Amino acid sequence: MRVLFPASEVEPYSKTGGLADVAASLPLALARRGHEVRVVTPRYRSVALPGAPLPGRRFTLEFPFGPVEVSTVEAHPHERLTQVFLDVPALYDRPALYGERGDYPDNARRFATLAVGALTEAQAAGFDPDVVHAHDWQTGLTPLALRRAFAGVFPRARSVFTIHNLAYQGGFRKDALPELGIPWSDFTPGGVEYWDHLSMLKAGIVFADAVTTVSPTYAREITSPGGGMGLDGVLRAARGGVTGVLNGVDVEAWNPATDVSLPERFSAADVAGRAVCRARLLDEVGLSAPGPGMPLVGLIGRMVAQKGADLAQAALPAFLERGLAVVVLGSGEPAIEQAWRRLEARFPGRCAVRTTFDVGLSHRIEAGADFFLMPSRFEPCGLNQLYSLRYGCVPIVHGVGGLLDTVADVATGEGTGLVFRGATVEAVQGALVRALALFRDRAAYAAVQRRGMGRDVSWDRSALAYERLYEGLGQGPARPAPPVQGSP
Ligand code: ADP
Repeated sequence: MRVLFPASEVEPYSKTGGLADVAASLPLALARRGHEVRVVTPRYRSVALPGAPLPGRRFTLEFPFGPVEVSTVEAHPHERLTQVFLDVPALYDRPALYGERGDYPDNARRFATLAVGALTEAQAAGFDPDVVHAHDWQTGLTPLALRRAFAGVFPRARSVFTIHNLAYQGGFRKDALPELGIPWSDFTPGGVEYWDHLSMLKAGIVFADAVTTVSPTYAREITSPGGGMGLDGVLRAARGGVTGVLNGVDVEAWNPATDVSLPERFSAADVAGRAVCRARLLDEVGLSAPGPGMPLVGLIGRMVAQKGADLAQAALPAFLERGLAVVVLGSGEPAIEQAWRRLEARFPGRCAVRTTFDVGLSHRIEAGADFFLMPSRFEPCGLNQLYSLRYGCVPIVHGVGGLLDTVADVATGEGTGLVFRGATVEAVQGALVRALALFRDRAAYAAVQRRGMGRDVSWDRSALAYERLYEGLGQGPARPAPPVQGSP
């Protein structure tokens, strides 16, 4: 199959979260399975291409707000995988991907250019896709454009829209519609209208042939009123419902047996190297050794309310006082960063906080910490708990979304970590108490660690699931357009 894959971030070129990992790994896994994949993404300032970039093509997108001149460069990480970078300096050559202090005011134009530019580029390149797989609000207009302007260009193509995080909906004032050339007839409850605004996420959901998200539990959560963030009705009405396909991880980049960012390597068969990683990590971040029988706990992630930092910050002091140590890596909202800094100042030598984006340190935390704490209030899939499983860093997670689908509690007898229910400080503390008990039973801890390290978290399984989904979409004459009147 030929798969066109527009995505607003692709590791290692641009990244704010898990979408970047998916947009790097899934296309490669699909290419290795024999499919032709074309990833299209902006050439942000952060994009550093190895060597001289291969020149691509030039075209003009005629938007009502004005023509956008696009030139492209390409990379070919695999013989069947092409990464295309849309070079529009006025739109993408900026310090951040989506905004610095708040969103960039022209994000509607920036991502309409990506959404439509991906289809135009494919047309210019003679790449006739069987499947167009778009992601999150930034490419939500791609399925819409495929039904409208590109219906005659790619009549066989089917679209898949994947939601990586329902919390980001790409809402814009309705004046954006005429600017972008979206007809008012699509501005309905059954179309792109959401609370009198344009919702690019909703455009993706409503116009795609299939909607997926990144774990089965998150699929259930977002189609229920409690977790649907106002869009559960729209999601329930999506064609074929919402399918949950778990993300995998890049098992080459995240392999403790070969990881060059670690001071010592190890594997499930021999975890001895972890002790060296732990000692060196303590030195690197300036922590004292935890008290006797007490663990080192790691946390990594964007500092936003979703990740439940406030729960961890309230739960940890009672344990830090008893000799537990914690290392935190992440950046984001200043109030959350400051709260971590206060904890660090209160517990010198016990709590270390790094507010940089440091991929090497993230690997060393997974390799050196005894437990990984992930108290997310909601978590579509989550990657860090998967890295934790692979690196023998026993995860302690809130039982929601992908966390529930990937970590089995020790109480099951086949556990790979600790799962707590309820986003409360008491629940986190209860899980930490259980973690301490597990840590003191060395044989039980080692068994949990080994079981986690043995789990298959590779992309192979996920790529196969997407391949089946693509095949199930079929081909043939253009599908009927979705209703433009009435509610979904
Ligand atoms: P989300 O997509 O919600 O941010 P995920 O757990 O799915 O959460 O993915 C986050 C990704 O970003 C992981 O690869 C994680 O290791 C990485 N990451 C987040 N913050 C940092 C940081 N400060 N330094 C290095 N890597 C980070």
